[in-house]
Amino acid sequence: MRVVLLGPPGSGKGTCAKIIGGLYGVPVITTGDMLRAAVARATPLGRTAKGYMDRGELVPDDLVNSLVAERLAEPDAANGFILDGYPRSPKQAEALEKHLQKTGKRLDHVLHVELEDEAIIDRLSKRRSCPRCGAIYHLENKPPRTNGMCDTCATALVQRDDDRPEVIRRRLEVYREKTRPLLSFYERRGEIKTIRGDLPLDELPAALRRVLNGRG
Ligand code: ADP
Ligand code: ZN
Repeated sequence: MRVVLLGPPGSGKGTCAKIIGGLYGVPVITTGDMLRAAVARATPLGRTAKGYMDRGELVPDDLVNSLVAERLAEPDAANGFILDGYPRSPKQAEALEKHLQKTGKRLDHVLHVELEDEAIIDRLSKRRSCPRCGAIYHLENKPPRTNGMCDTCATALVQRDDDRPEVIRRRLEVYREKTRPLLSFYERRGEIKTIRGDLPLDELPAALRRVLNGRG
């Protein structure tokens, strides 16, 4: 199973990706997480990527393309993958095409997770996450039991640097400019399916299964 998730920042791509990965038993490849890990380890890639990420800009295509190419070459991705946050620009879509051609595979689904700007801004500005276990909270809709602390590991929650309002606005602009054109690229090839990013969490697995089975 090979799936690409498209959609604006904060639409819920990551949540959908995890569910689909679990349904089909294939790895979820999240470029945002990979880049944040590189930043945390201060690798050469991380040191370059940090500035772009803090400003809400895309990390340059060739850096991200080689990061993903390496990841796709790992054995666990041979039987499939869920790409969350990639491709994000026409150059990246081309690189993915090349990879697929080279391996003689094709995408099974391109899933568009859609959500309006207002809902996105609300979600991202009130999002908090646990730096230790990665759990994600929302100050109103999914608050931690103890204010500011992770339910699972009692670590102090943090806000992502790029979840500040001015950076969120820039990320949305960049999405419209660079990523949204990919929707028509994949649409022309009849590969796009759409799901709303604000379905109740307990309905999401069934809804995803319906959409991916062509009955959505
Ligand atoms: P979101 O989708 O909510 O903006 P991500 O975690 O996917 O969050 O991405 C955070 C940041 O990481 C992006 O703003 C960008 O700087 C960088 N990034 C992630 N994926 C890519 C990519 N495919 N190409 C370029 N930059 C990326
Ligand atoms: Zn935690």
